[in-house]
Amino acid sequence: MSLRPTAARAAAAAEAAASQAQAPAAKGAQPPSALRLLLMGLLFHLAYIPSVFDCYFTSPVVHGMPHHSLPSSVPAPADRLVLIVADGLRADSLFNLSPFPSVPDSPAIVAPYLRQTAASRGAFGVSHTRVPTESRPGHVALIAGMYEDVSAVTTGWTANPVTFDSVLNQSTAAFSFGSPDILPMFASGAVEGRVRTWMYDEEEEDFTRDATELDVWVLERFRELLANATRDAALDGVLRGDKVVFFLHLLGLDTTGHSYRPHSKEYMRNIQLVDSIVHQVEQLVTAFYADARTAYIFTADHGMSNIGNHGDGHPDNTRTPLIAWGAGVRGPLPDGEGATHDAFSLPWGEPLTGLVRRDVEQADVAALMAVLIGADWPVNGVGVLPECRDSVHPGWLDFGPGEQGEKGMAAACVTNARVVLEQYRVKHELKKNHTALYTPFADLAAGPDELPGDGQLAAIDALYSAGDYHSTRRASAALIATSLRGLRYLQTYDQLLLRIVVTLGYLGWSAMSALQVLRMFVFPHAATLGETAPDLATEVAVILLAGLLVIQQSPWTYWVYAAAPVFFWRNVLFDLPVLAEAWKRLSAGQRGPMAVAGVLLRLVCVAVAIERMVAGYTNRHVWSLGFGVIGCLWPLTATSSGWWKSVRGRGLVAAWVGICGLDAAFGMLPVEKHEDLTVLMITGGAYVLIGLAAFAYLYNDPQAWVGNYSDSYPLIAVVALQTSLIGIATYATYGAVTSLQAREGLPAHSQMLGWTALLLSSASPFILATSDHRPNSRLLTYFLAFCPAFLILSISWEGLFYLAYSLTLYLWIEMEALLAPKVEVPAPPTDAGVKAGTDGMRVLRADDIRIALFFLFFVNIAFFGTGNVASLSNFYLEPVYRLVPVFKPFLMAVLLLYKVFLPYTIFAACLATLNKRLHLPPFSIYLVALSVTDGMTLAMFYNVRDEGSWLEIGQTLSHFVITSLLLVWNAGICVVGEWLMSGTTDLTTGSRKKTAVAASNGQDAKLD
Ligand SMILES: [Zn+2]
Repeated sequence: MSLRPTAARAAAAAEAAASQAQAPAAKGAQPPSALRLLLMGLLFHLAYIPSVFDCYFTSPVVHGMPHHSLPSSVPAPADRLVLIVADGLRADSLFNLSPFPSVPDSPAIVAPYLRQTAASRGAFGVSHTRVPTESRPGHVALIAGMYEDVSAVTTGWTANPVTFDSVLNQSTAAFSFGSPDILPMFASGAVEGRVRTWMYDEEEEDFTRDATELDVWVLERFRELLANATRDAALDGVLRGDKVVFFLHLLGLDTTGHSYRPHSKEYMRNIQLVDSIVHQVEQLVTAFYADARTAYIFTADHGMSNIGNHGDGHPDNTRTPLIAWGAGVRGPLPDGEGATHDAFSLPWGEPLTGLVRRDVEQADVAALMAVLIGADWPVNGVGVLPECRDSVHPGWLDFGPGEQGEKGMAAACVTNARVVLEQYRVKHELKKNHTALYTPFADLAAGPDELPGDGQLAAIDALYSAGDYHSTRRASAALIATSLRGLRYLQTYDQLLLRIVVTLGYLGWSAMSALQVLRMFVFPHAATLGETAPDLATEVAVILLAGLLVIQQSPWTYWVYAAAPVFFWRNVLFDLPVLAEAWKRLSAGQRGPMAVAGVLLRLVCVAVAIERMVAGYTNRHVWSLGFGVIGCLWPLTATSSGWWKSVRGRGLVAAWVGICGLDAAFGMLPVEKHEDLTVLMITGGAYVLIGLAAFAYLYNDPQAWVGNYSDSYPLIAVVALQTSLIGIATYATYGAVTSLQAREGLPAHSQMLGWTALLLSSASPFILATSDHRPNSRLLTYFLAFCPAFLILSISWEGLFYLAYSLTLYLWIEMEALLAPKVEVPAPPTDAGVKAGTDGMRVLRADDIRIALFFLFFVNIAFFGTGNVASLSNFYLEPVYRLVPVFKPFLMAVLLLYKVFLPYTIFAACLATLNKRLHLPPFSIYLVALSVTDGMTLAMFYNVRDEGSWLEIGQTLSHFVITSLLLVWNAGICVVGEWLMSGTTDLTTGSRKKTAVAASNGQDAKLD
């Protein structure tokens, strides 16, 4: 009895031993497997995503700088400061004359108090924010004077990744009122008890409620504070001290803009409310203090795009208003010949266009605030006072008339220079101690006993003591500029090394995966290189790299980045004989130079295709051009098939050219869309017509499509069901859109019908899955199944794009079959490296690289066709409200993502069909694409921007992450496609009547 388990165990042990014995002796010469290659690729790409942060986004915050403030000889111009931030307020919405043309009876001047203040007793301009245009980085720039690094996004913008200093922290007392998302970050890092906060509950930020209540709440708390002081002597004493800051955060406009978009009546009303709040705040302050020692700053953390979003670098998001007035701020100045205005500010109208507009960078506001109340500057500040950026144009400050005023401004600039220089000094010291062969920034080089910038500072002090205030400002401005360049130099000091490593990594991966795919599918018999050369090369590389990393004291992540290229290139060395085989195959029958030229031409074509696809991420028109190439050039070059000799061939190519032209037109449509009921109804009608046509075709002649009559009934039933559901979805969409546009809420029956159609229809193709094995049946039912979902979730013409895209993919399959060179009889697999499952599959050809490029092209088209990702802010919520009338972020996100996934589902099914049709091994197209995908990833890595204005950080970063994950994404597409089409039989060997044409085509070619 007990023998059995023992025997089994022994057998298992023997088996294990055997398999161990079979394990290849040579470390690098394991037979390649697709699964292992995939897992390796997945790990590698995930591990390399953080490299972009290490390379471009390291925190600018360092510690250990001494504090600086105005010298005691220069009294602070104000005793207290009121900072009012209107969250999400666009500059043009505030400043323009008649900024709400679409709102009936809207006033020409929306914010009379602020406008009057700017025109009669203040300074104004645009505060330019950086990306990401989100609330947290905006407030950090305003109040801490620094641009928080993007890696803070990893903590969800809530916790401080590092503690930083702020103007609130440098006050004697700060009183802040507003949102729980913003206030805590300045209170948590500050000296205990210095920053007091009044916050409403998070639940009150309800998108469906009137957000202006949040702003009124802030005003009421401020009113209470001042009222309490009349009864509380201690509080009164604190309030009447100097260096006091009030921070009023008005969130209403952000919420209103998200809900109603910034051209709405609601946004306008909210601006009017904010204007009146500012007025009341000043009245309260004046009544309480009865002095003229208060400075006011009114601004926004970011703007708002036309569709009610923010985050990216569109000027609508980065241009915020800035108005300052009160103690220490200059009054309006006449603008000589309109020199400070441009096309953006001309709509502001008189009197603003006749006065000096002075723009600032967002972090400059922190410097301005610190000077106004004479507090210590935030030590991490990189803001520059407008008076120190240039001494030609008027700044924002007013230190009084004559020499006293000149002296004040000069002193402020010297302080500004010291603050920025201190940061360079600290970073320089850190870098010097941790870097081999460190080269300091040349313009701040210092002698052995000096600190960087000592010489410049001494010169500035001499000018200041001599009373040459103008030259002091000029010299300070120069030192600030130099120090900022020095900071930038140190910030990017390690980029070169990392870039080299990352480049070697991606290239190594491409080379290795290409050679392994060749070995898997084309040259299973190719030899491997002996171990000596690869081992030697590896050892040399490891010693060199490790030495460098040790000397640089690089973080551990660098070791991970460096390990990847060593491993990949080692494998490439082992597989070099595969390359030799490939060369032999390609150059067979050709003389040397011709062969080289042919290979080079192919490489150039691949490189150009990849480069164009990369360009397509920022310019959607490139995709239209791509359709031109695919639509026209491809059939012209595929001459070996002789497609023009048959009627069907000519018809198919004509259809192909037509559909590609239509797709190209989609790429030319604008990205920003507005809800268009007419287009939606046309889309619904088109879907229904297709359903009816398919139904009629199948019903009249069930044998046309299928061999067996009775087989067709399930298919006919499903198509009928799906067509009815499309009709229901169209009706539900009509009801929902008309009611929502009239602001009458979502009708319950529209919501119910919409959900029913979406869910039932999405499930419908799987009814058929077990009973119908024809690829065309499956493709048809998948297409019809997702029509209701796409219709309900579309805002405009995306639904028609879905139709065109699906048709394009279907024709692509037919075209590939038509244009394929004569079918090769595959050699029976004799090598262990080729799996038994690949029986009857043809080997890969050079032309398959083209198919792989098409594959990548269509993957990207699914993304860009509807303009989903062309801009990060393009996430439209309107369609979702047709199903979910109240704000449920998770459910809404799921629905939006579902819509993004739908075209991929169709793509996956078509790809699997194509694989079968061309007798390609499963996943082979994907594996060929592996090695070219990283051409895109690498290009995106170099495209990443860590500062800038227009097309910048957010987009470039997301593009890099998207292309990094493309490999995983594509693998998913292949798996899903195989699953969706599992059990289908090959058309060309299945039914005879209609589908035989495809097969006969191949024979046509052969007969000629
Ligand atoms: Zn905000």
